[in-house]
Amino acid sequence: MANLRQLFLQHLAQTSDSPLMLEIERAEGMYLYGPGGRAYLDLIAGIGVSCLGHRHPRVVEAVKAQLDKYLHTLVYGEFVLAPQVRLASLLASLLPGPLDSVYFVNSGAEAAEGAMKLAKRFTGRYEFVACKRAYHGSTQGAASLMYPRDFTQAFLPLLPGIRHIEYNCEWSLQQITEQTAAVVVETVQGEWGIRAPADGYLQKLRRRCDELGALLILDEIQAGYGRTGSLFAFEQYGIVPDILLLAKGMGGGMPLGAFIASRELMSSLSFDPVLGHITTFGGHPICCAAALATLETLLESGLIGQVKAKERLFLELLQHPAIVEVRSAGLWLAVELESFETVRAVIRHCLDEGLISDWFLFNERSLRIAPPLIITEEEIRWACGVIVAGIEKCKM
Ligand code: PLP
Repeated sequence: MANLRQLFLQHLAQTSDSPLMLEIERAEGMYLYGPGGRAYLDLIAGIGVSCLGHRHPRVVEAVKAQLDKYLHTLVYGEFVLAPQVRLASLLASLLPGPLDSVYFVNSGAEAAEGAMKLAKRFTGRYEFVACKRAYHGSTQGAASLMYPRDFTQAFLPLLPGIRHIEYNCEWSLQQITEQTAAVVVETVQGEWGIRAPADGYLQKLRRRCDELGALLILDEIQAGYGRTGSLFAFEQYGIVPDILLLAKGMGGGMPLGAFIASRELMSSLSFDPVLGHITTFGGHPICCAAALATLETLLESGLIGQVKAKERLFLELLQHPAIVEVRSAGLWLAVELESFETVRAVIRHCLDEGLISDWFLFNERSLRIAPPLIITEEEIRWACGVIVAGIEKCKM
């Protein structure tokens, strides 16, 4: 009888030739557990997902309660389902005025797809401007926004009319024109290895969009729900997007995404044609129940208020001559090392010591740190000790 790992390699589609192959038996709080109860501290939260840690009791309770009521009933948008309505209302109450209409989907890529369609429908334009080394998803519309070309070359042709600009470059904003339907930007660029917006950049971007009638779509799929030190990252930069993208952390470990806009904008999906964007499972009642419990718990917990102090502790402890740079935006850090080989060796060392880390899609020389927001001071100290020891070991 083949064991689980052999069957994994035989029957699960692989996306790289070097999967981590860590067998997970259960997860709780900051930890994942393998066979024999081997514990791993999770420093990446399932890539920006488990903001409250794994299986937060209130999230589990909400899922169980919803399980006892109903699962799927009818495609999104037809029936009045309390978990969807309560979650959308809470989000609208927390967001600035115009962002009061929520369209639930299943994932981040779908949120990007829906938002792109909405921008085309509302503006009557089809061109998009996106930033180099930004990631918005792997489906064809979202992948059209991707650059460098190495990632998309094999899948051409993708969508026409996409212009790629340098993030944080004011001069590049000239590429936004009267033909631009929308500019799609991550508030903080994650997969490039955490690049926060320069002073005034997002305001200038917002102004340029307004001048030319282009919509501004902010992707907070990875930044979302407190990671940067505010519930929504854009709150720190004095701008409001026309469309906000959320996913990952919002579901508390369940698959859920959303694009959020004004009622006026969103209503354009309901005529010419009617049913302009539809989904069967988007906004699944269990996912919305989990997301509602996640958001309520996060707001009550005071965790977001602790993010900056925890970030400072990481910055203080991540010191070694071989560290080229540490960039951060709250509990979202990139530790830049000399080479990909060093990063890979440090990740291996961390894993051997029971610590899960990773690199970034568009920056393989940086080590990813994006823990659940519940991480304690003691756990930060331990994790940084393991990382620094791993870096030191690579020098020998
Ligand atoms: N946008 C950003 C900023 C992301 O980091 C990701 C995923 O990593 C996505 C979109 C795509 O989300 P999903 O994997 O749920 O499709």
